[in-house]
Amino acid sequence: MQTTTRVCIIGGGVVGCSVLYHLTKLGWSDVMLVERSELTSGSTWHAAGGFHTLNGDTNMAALQGYTIKLYRELEEITGMSCGLHHVGGVTLADNKDRFDMLVAERAKHRYMGLETEIVSPEQIAKIAPITNLDGIVGGLYDPLDGHLDPSGTTHAYAKAARMGGATIETHVKVEATTQRPDGTWDVVTNKGTIHAEHVVNAGGLWAREVGAMAGVYLPLHPMEHQYLVTEETPEIYERDTEHPHVMDPAGESYLRQEGRGLCIGFYEQPCRPWAVDGTPWDFGHELLPDDFDKIEDSITFAFKRFPVLERAGVKTVVHGPFTFAPDGNPLVGPVPGLRNYWSACGVMAGFSQGGGVGLMLAQWMIEGETERDTFAMDVSRFGNWITPGYTRPKVIENYQRRFSVSYPNEELHAARPHRTTPMYDIFTEMGAVWGQQFGLEVANYFAQGDEPTFETPSFRRSDAFDATAREVKAVRSKAGINELQNFGKFRVTGEGARPWLDRIMAGRIPTQGRLSLTPMLSHKGRLIGDFTVSCASETEFYLTASYGSQSYHMRWFEQNALDDVRVENISDTLTGFQIAGPLSRDILQACTRDDVASMRFMDVREMTVGQVACRVQRVSYTGDLGFEIYCNPMDQRQLWQTLWSEGQPKGLTPFGMRAMMSLRLDKFFGSWLSEFSPDYTAAETGMDRFISFKKNTNFIGRKAAEAERATPPHRQLCAFEVDADDADVVAYEPVFIDGTVQGFCTSGGYAHHSAKSIALALIPRDKAKDGLKVEIEILGSLRPATLISTPPFDADGSRMRG
Ligand SMILES: Cc1cc2nc3c(=O)[nH]c(=O)nc-3n(C[C@H](O)[C@H](O)[C@H](O)COP(=O)(O)OP(=O)(O)OC[C@H]3O[C@@H](n4cnc5c(N)ncnc54)[C@H](O)[C@@H]3O)c2cc1C
Repeated sequence: MQTTTRVCIIGGGVVGCSVLYHLTKLGWSDVMLVERSELTSGSTWHAAGGFHTLNGDTNMAALQGYTIKLYRELEEITGMSCGLHHVGGVTLADNKDRFDMLVAERAKHRYMGLETEIVSPEQIAKIAPITNLDGIVGGLYDPLDGHLDPSGTTHAYAKAARMGGATIETHVKVEATTQRPDGTWDVVTNKGTIHAEHVVNAGGLWAREVGAMAGVYLPLHPMEHQYLVTEETPEIYERDTEHPHVMDPAGESYLRQEGRGLCIGFYEQPCRPWAVDGTPWDFGHELLPDDFDKIEDSITFAFKRFPVLERAGVKTVVHGPFTFAPDGNPLVGPVPGLRNYWSACGVMAGFSQGGGVGLMLAQWMIEGETERDTFAMDVSRFGNWITPGYTRPKVIENYQRRFSVSYPNEELHAARPHRTTPMYDIFTEMGAVWGQQFGLEVANYFAQGDEPTFETPSFRRSDAFDATAREVKAVRSKAGINELQNFGKFRVTGEGARPWLDRIMAGRIPTQGRLSLTPMLSHKGRLIGDFTVSCASETEFYLTASYGSQSYHMRWFEQNALDDVRVENISDTLTGFQIAGPLSRDILQACTRDDVASMRFMDVREMTVGQVACRVQRVSYTGDLGFEIYCNPMDQRQLWQTLWSEGQPKGLTPFGMRAMMSLRLDKFFGSWLSEFSPDYTAAETGMDRFISFKKNTNFIGRKAAEAERATPPHRQLCAFEVDADDADVVAYEPVFIDGTVQGFCTSGGYAHHSAKSIALALIPRDKAKDGLKVEIEILGSLRPATLISTPPFDADGSRMRG
C-alpha cells in the first residue's frame, strides 16, 4: 500500500469517489482513497438512485444541476454505464401554498437556465397517468429528474479518478488520524500508516466516528429510510416509454418505475434515528428489518394517490440508514479549528449532490476557494455550540419536513430554545416572537394585544406585518431598542494588529476612537465578509459582522494567522443593545454623564451607561441616528434597566429583526449572504466604495479588485420600487428587461417607513439607469418595477450623520 500522499480520502461511497475524481480533474493526481470494505459499502449500495434539481437553496440547486449533467461526462470518460434513466419528474402540489412554492422555484430556475415547467392537472394526467389527481392544483415538471445505478455510478467515479492518477485501496480501515506539528496527518490503518498532507472525511454512515478520531464533532445523524419495489404492473410494462418520477409532498413519497414495476419510498412522520450511540463497524452489507408499521399511513395515502399500487404485490423492501445534518444540507469544507482536515459528509442525496460536493471541495483544496457561495453546505455554518443532543431532534425534524413547504419567513421549532441571552424572559414577557440564528434565539418582532405570538409561515406578507410596521414607525419617529447579541464579534490584539487588519480587510482601518466599514475579500476578489472595524488603540481592535458566519470568519482568520496578532471570537462574551431613531441620542444622554452630543458619526467611545461599563459606537444598520452599546453579558440586564427606564417614557420601543430588515431597505443597505456573499464581488455590489485603494498594503484580493476598477463588471446591484400585490421579493426572483430575463433579485421586502415594496437586484450595468422599467416575477405574477437610485429615507445622510 502507498504510504505517502497529498490527499487521503477516508470512505469509498459515492461522495468519497466524487471528491477523488474531482481532485484529479482539477489537476491533483497524488491522491488516494481508502475504504474499509468494498466501494459503496455504506449508504451508497442501497440507495434508490433517484436524482433531481429541486432544492430550497439556490446554490445547492445549481450544484444538483451540475451533478446530474456530470453523469454523461463520466460515462464518456470511462466507457462505463451509470445506468442513467433521464425520465423527467413531476412534483405535485395539492394546495395553494405548495403550488406557490413550486411557482417560486420555477421563477428561480429561469435565470439559472433550468428548463423546469409549471404544469396543470391535465398535463400531469398525460405525464404521469397512474396519478389520481383529486385535489391536485398543479405541479412542477423537471426534465432533468431521473435515476441511475448507484453502484455503477460510484465505480464510474472511481475509474475516472484512477484514470487521472488516483489510487484506491479497499479493505483498509482507518483507525486513527493524528496531526503532526507541521500540519500534515498520519492516517493510521489496519494495513499501516499513510502520511498525508490533507485528510478528507467522506466516512458517510461512519463520519461521526471518523471525525472523532481527529477530535471533532460533526453534526450529523443517520436516519432509517425505506422504499418498496413492486411486482410487475401492467399499467407500467404496457407503456411505450418509461414512467417519469412523481414526488407527492402531501403523501411524503417519491415514486418511479423500476423494471416492469414501481419503486416508492417514504419520508414518514413516525421516522426513526438509527445508531444513536454510534454506527457499528461491522455494519455494511446488510439491511434493516422491514418495518411496515412505520409506513402504514404513508402506504394508505399512496394507495389513494396511485391506485395501481394497491393491486401490485411488493417484490422487495429496502430499509437502510443514511445521514443528515440538522438542516439537511451536506457538511463540506475545511473543518474549523483543524488544519488540512476536510469534511465531505452529511450528504443525504448523494446522487443529486455528490458531484457538486466533489467539485466544490476540490476547488477549495486546490484553488483555495470555491467558484460560488457554498455557505449552505459549509461545515462552518454550525458552531462549536452544537451537540448530538441538538443534532438528533433537528435531524428528525428535517426528515419529517423533507417534503414540507419551505416558507421564507418560517422558523423551525425542534431543539429550541437552545441558546438564549439574559434578555430572553424579559423580551418574552414583552411579547417577543422568536426566531433563531446559529442556535441563538433572536427576537423577530414583539406582538401586542391579540396579535399572534407565532408568525404564520407564508409566501405573502405575513401576520407580522402590522407589528413590524409599528416597530418601524417607533424607530423612525422616536426610538427603538434591540439586542446586539446576534453580531459576530472579534477582538484583534497585539503589535501586529493594524498591519494584519490592513492585509486582511480591503477597506481603511480606522484611527483610535473611530469606526470604519470594510469588505473582506477572497484572493479572487469575492466578498467573504462585510465588517465594522473599531479601533480602541493601536494594539486593540474590535470587529463586528454576521453572527451566523462567526465560525466561517474565524476559520479565515486562523488560516491567515500571524505570530504577533491574536484574534479572539468574542461573539458570546460581548453583548448589548442598539438604540436607533431621532430620540436615541437624548435617551443615551439621559443614561450617562459622558457628553454624547460630541460623538460624531462613526465615533467609538468607552463610557459608563447607568452603572455599566460600555463601549458605544455611533452607527446603526437602521440607517438612522443610532448607537450600538456593548457590554459584558453579566451586565446586560442592568444596562437594560437603565436604558428602558430612561427610554420608555420618551417612546423607546423594542424592535426585532423583521423591523430591522425593513428599515435597512429605506436606505438600500445590503445584507450579508444576500447582497454580500462570495457569489459577488465588491464592484458588483457597490462595496468597492469602501475599498481603500490608497492604502499602501497588498490586501487580500487587491489585484482582483484593481482589475475590476479598471474594467467594471458587467452586472450591478440596483434598487427597485416594485408595484407589488400582497407578496414582496424574497430572493432570486428573475428580473425581466424588455421581456427577457436579464437579472435577478438578491433580497427585498416591504419598507414600511417609505411605504414601498423594495427589491435589490443585480442587472446588466449598461441597463442600470434611474427610471428603468422592468418586471419582476413574484409568485408567478410579473410585477412592474422601477429602478430608483435615491434612497427614500435620509438620502443626504443628515439624519444618520447629524
Ligand atoms: C434506502 C435509501 C434510499 C436512498 N435513496 C437515494 C436516492 O434515491 N437518491 C439519492 O441521491 N440518495 C439516496 N439515498 C442516500 C444516499 O445513499 C447517500 O446520500 C449516499 O450514499 C451517501 O454517500 P457517502 O459516500 O457520503 O456515504 P456512504 O455511502 O455511507 O460511504 C461511506 C464509506 O466510508 C467507508 N468508511 C467509513 N469509515 C471508514 C474508515 N474508518 N476507514 C475506511 N473506510 C471507511 C464506509 O465503508 C463507506 O463505504 C438513499 C439512502 C437510503 C438508505
